[in-house]
Amino acid sequence: MEQIQSVKGMNDILPSEAPLWRHIEDKAREILNRFGYREIRTPVVEKAELFARGIGDTTDIVEKEMYTFADKKGRLLSLRPEATASIIRAFIEHQLHMVSGLRKFFLIGPMFRHERPQKGRYRQFHQIDVEVFGMNDPMVDAEVMYLACLYLEEIGLKGVRLEINTLGCTKCRPRFRTVLREFLLEHVSSLCPDCARRAYKNPLRAFDCKVPSCGEIVADAPVITDFVCDECVNHFDQVKQYLEELGLGYSLNPRLVRGLDYYVRTAFEIVTEHLGAQNAVGGGGRYDGLMKELGGPDLPGIGFALGMERIVLLLDQTLEPFQNGPFLYCVFIGPEAKKYGFKLVQKLRKEGFSVDCDYEDKSVKSQMRMAHRVGASYALILGEDELQKGIAQLRDMHRSEQFVVELSEIVNELHSLAEIEGGRRS
Ligand code: ATP
Ligand code: MG
Repeated sequence: MEQIQSVKGMNDILPSEAPLWRHIEDKAREILNRFGYREIRTPVVEKAELFARGIGDTTDIVEKEMYTFADKKGRLLSLRPEATASIIRAFIEHQLHMVSGLRKFFLIGPMFRHERPQKGRYRQFHQIDVEVFGMNDPMVDAEVMYLACLYLEEIGLKGVRLEINTLGCTKCRPRFRTVLREFLLEHVSSLCPDCARRAYKNPLRAFDCKVPSCGEIVADAPVITDFVCDECVNHFDQVKQYLEELGLGYSLNPRLVRGLDYYVRTAFEIVTEHLGAQNAVGGGGRYDGLMKELGGPDLPGIGFALGMERIVLLLDQTLEPFQNGPFLYCVFIGPEAKKYGFKLVQKLRKEGFSVDCDYEDKSVKSQMRMAHRVGASYALILGEDELQKGIAQLRDMHRSEQFVVELSEIVNELHSLAEIEGGRRS
């Protein structure tokens, strides 16, 4: 039979990797809880127009990277390429602005973009996405960046750098766009076809172009920082001041733009030197007009997303420390012992112990080998003779010591062993 393989750019997370993923997620949930965020989970599929409006239909994501398809009734649906638009859609749809105190959200899950797969860039990837609605204060900008950096520090990521920029607002950015467009049009013959097109439609995107020759051209382009209005300058100055007060290092990157059209004022990226071309671990910024644009109340917003695959690549850990074997591995010899054991295993699991066994009638030796291989703390060995006598052998796998237990006492015995192990039952 011909083998069926996974879809290109979409990866399996194998049991050997899952503990690290869970660690990354658990730590995220824990720190987000400390900062007052609440979890939200939205569908992976949304109406295509949500992203066209929420991200901007002249962005790379919407123009080139979206998985969009017609359902049976011909409605255009997309696999979500990012989470912000979905969270805002849900916020509006459920009128969450009416629920006091519910303004900070996070979502952890898969995103989909049809990009060329390479190290750190996949077609299904995962993000930790964080959003705050209804807060204008530059303190929030600083706090959000602090949260992102503290999280990465706490999970042990080293060598990351925070880059920040201001993108101006709807008042001051149009003038910059005009000036930038003129500059790009002067160099249009040397730009890549995408940037030549962008020059008209969305000139800021040229800063994000990955083609080296475009990079050289925009290196001499005018920068937004010279065009922002007094209010934006003031807001940005305060953001920087609060970052300094929090002791968070940053560098200014006047050429930093974001992949979404609706970003205003603060934009930031967390970058590393260790992932080659895929140097961004995460990024975010302010998007004050977006909620209104999507038909909701006129609430400002700010957020960021971290790429989990890139975090995993950077952590590059041996996964062993995250893995626990079962508390108990049961070894049954003979059909009667096996039958008795079948019920015993379920009973012990119900009691809260992680218990494993197999029902394959293997030799004692090979079952004991299995107990070792899975890393069990204890093994229970039950043969027909023992069953007759109402006893079993209990083996401490680490100390290689073995003693007899009464079958009627096994639950109590395991509970007291678990206490000695610091309460660990699984
Ligand atoms: P890049 O410039 O690397 O394409 P981006 O600006 O498109 O990034 P965002 O939309 O800001 O990325 O998403 C936030 C984070 O999600 C990125 O910093 C990255 O870590 C991760 N990410 C984005 N696209 C992918 C992908 N195709 N595969 C894996 N991770 C990704
Ligand atoms: Mg991208």
